Amino acid sequence: MRNPKRPHTSSYKSPKISVAKCRTLISAAKEAAKKAYAPYSGLAIGAAVLAANGDIFTGCNVENASYGLTVCAERVAIFRAISEGVRVFTALGIFPNGSSSAMPCGACRQVISEFAPQCLIVLSEEPGKSRIIPMSKLLPEPFSLPSCQSYNLTKIRTRISNAAGGKR
Ligand SMILES: [Zn+2]
Repeated sequence: MRNPKRPHTSSYKSPKISVAKCRTLISAAKEAAKKAYAPYSGLAIGAAVLAANGDIFTGCNVENASYGLTVCAERVAIFRAISEGVRVFTALGIFPNGSSSAMPCGACRQVISEFAPQCLIVLSEEPGKSRIIPMSKLLPEPFSLPSCQSYNLTKIRTRISNAAGGKR
């Protein structure tokens, strides 16, 4: 079920991002990749999320011997921002150290979409080169639920409506 307060992602307008900001994001993601804990895959990934207020939060992948517990760099960066009280993002840069693809996995796409369905994904693909993809293209139909707030509002409106209509 789609959250009624959350329009279809394709109806969002993606923000613009400057070349300089892209470079800053990829540079921050590259630094974060140096801190990756990736003894199993050997793939060090760094991510940097750009908040609407200009702050940048970074993350690296953190693997685990129980593979399913591994957390990707993108989610680490977003969770760091959320834990600092920041929830509005305009872009997310990804740097894959030693890998040709920086494309976020399905789980990360869903998490990014929860907070920033309109954001831009900046992928570092070759040294000095990056590609920008709107999140709405990576996950056009994200899973969503009605939030508690909208659910309560609906219940309250129904009660008011019923009361006004004489239903008891
Ligand atoms: Zn991922």
